[in-house]
Amino acid sequence: MRSMIVAGRKVEGRACFEVHSPYDGSLIEEVACASPTEVDKALEACERSRATLKKLTRYERAKVLRRVAEALIKRREELTKILASEVGKTLKEARAEVDRASSTFEFAAEEVRRLAGDEIPFDAASGGVSRRGYTIKVPIGTIVAITPFNFPLNLAAHKVAPAIAAGNPFILKPASQTPIADLILGEIILEAGFPEAAMSVLPGPGGEVGLRLVRDERPRMVTFTGSAAIGKEIATNCGFKKIAMELGSNSGVIVASSADVDFAIKRIALGAFALAGQVCISVQRVVVHRDVFDYVVDGVAKIARSLKVGNPLEEETQMGPMISEKDAQRIAQWVEEASASDASIVAGGRRNGTVFDPTVLTNVSASSRVWKDEAFAPVVCINPYDNFDEGIDAINQSRYGLQAGIFTNSLEEAFAAAERIEVGGVIINDVPTYRVDHMPYGGVKDSGIGREGLRYAIAEMTEEKLVCFNFWRSQ
Ligand code: NDP
Repeated sequence: MRSMIVAGRKVEGRACFEVHSPYDGSLIEEVACASPTEVDKALEACERSRATLKKLTRYERAKVLRRVAEALIKRREELTKILASEVGKTLKEARAEVDRASSTFEFAAEEVRRLAGDEIPFDAASGGVSRRGYTIKVPIGTIVAITPFNFPLNLAAHKVAPAIAAGNPFILKPASQTPIADLILGEIILEAGFPEAAMSVLPGPGGEVGLRLVRDERPRMVTFTGSAAIGKEIATNCGFKKIAMELGSNSGVIVASSADVDFAIKRIALGAFALAGQVCISVQRVVVHRDVFDYVVDGVAKIARSLKVGNPLEEETQMGPMISEKDAQRIAQWVEEASASDASIVAGGRRNGTVFDPTVLTNVSASSRVWKDEAFAPVVCINPYDNFDEGIDAINQSRYGLQAGIFTNSLEEAFAAAERIEVGGVIINDVPTYRVDHMPYGGVKDSGIGREGLRYAIAEMTEEKLVCFNFWRSQ
């Protein structure tokens, strides 16, 4: 059985749960499950550790972060196999996640050295002539980090690396479907020299372990990545503490007639079917200028039909299963509903257990669930548009707003898209699925609150403390 980590110690606890492969249902490992006692111990230890963390200099924090980055690369193949097994992502996708998690820690190590406050120009106010002062960045306090199943390692890295950089203790609650890679990450962080009491990794049901952590008064911040529904539940339960919410989306793409259409086709297929569409910035809704509509649909459908789908542990597999049969059944139902109204299934549409074929739909009504909700599945909807404003309006008609993409060779259209699409990030000449780990990343509307990306997450996890000297005892 794999132990949990409570205040830096491996603990088996009294209960456990099984983690199964989403591809064939085989047992991967039993994992210890945190009880209220372990949650309390972890929280208490975090509070205790704050005095130790205060003494950990930026130099030392950067050293810990760099060691974690190096250890992730050393354990790359082991972590790759675990991610492919527990998430069902392909080996190529799993390797890329390990590499990105390592670079997330590297960026955090660099940011921590630049972490500094500002000089405050007190003499800019009439009452400030004799004053001099500055701000210092102080850690916010205990951070509760709750993560989803799709990128267990890198999305946990996006929370714990800035927590360490800022000098905060943390408790990580991984997704129950995918806790193993996060428990290994916990081991690595301990081996890298982060104080034991300052960190715990507590697997267990979100509605119990997660909710208990969220409701407790000791943490100063909850940083959550997951669905909008759970994000809203957390927000109503967390009381008087800071929240950061990285939530879902049904990301849109515009393909203008001036675009490099062949490039757009390749990128749309990649953005729609990577990780079986289970990426928060998967391409779900595409609007294409009518002049190039048929060409784009044919191109994306051709790629969809050509993908080798199946066992994620086989090197040649290009798309693995969905995370559960329930999710595969849900998307099969949504596709059926859409096709029962006006949509056409141009490619895919079939389910085999947890595997749902890469699917392309056209002429999808804006009221279909597969268009208006988050599909989180290998399904892309492609509709035509006649004028540019119509395209922008179609993308904006969503309760989500994480990222959007536009393929165009017109500067005017690119600028208009950048200014008018209501999202956290607009990607010109690429899909919304594009992300590097140091860029500001997050959404508007139901896609979230706050930004990740190391510099931005570290800012969220620190307080500005003001220091003001009154040199000449002026009043
Ligand atoms: P969920 O929202 O179902 O779960 C996310 C985490 O929340 C899990 O650890 C879960 O635990 C926990 N949780 C569940 N209920 C509660 C609760 N009541 N209180 C506290 N914690 C709780 O998301 P999924 O794991 O299914 O991930 C998919 C979602 O994540 C999609 O909507 C996707 O768009 C979004 N996402 C957003 C990203 C972004 O950066 N914006 C990136 C990646 C994914 P348990 O597993 O035990 O239920």
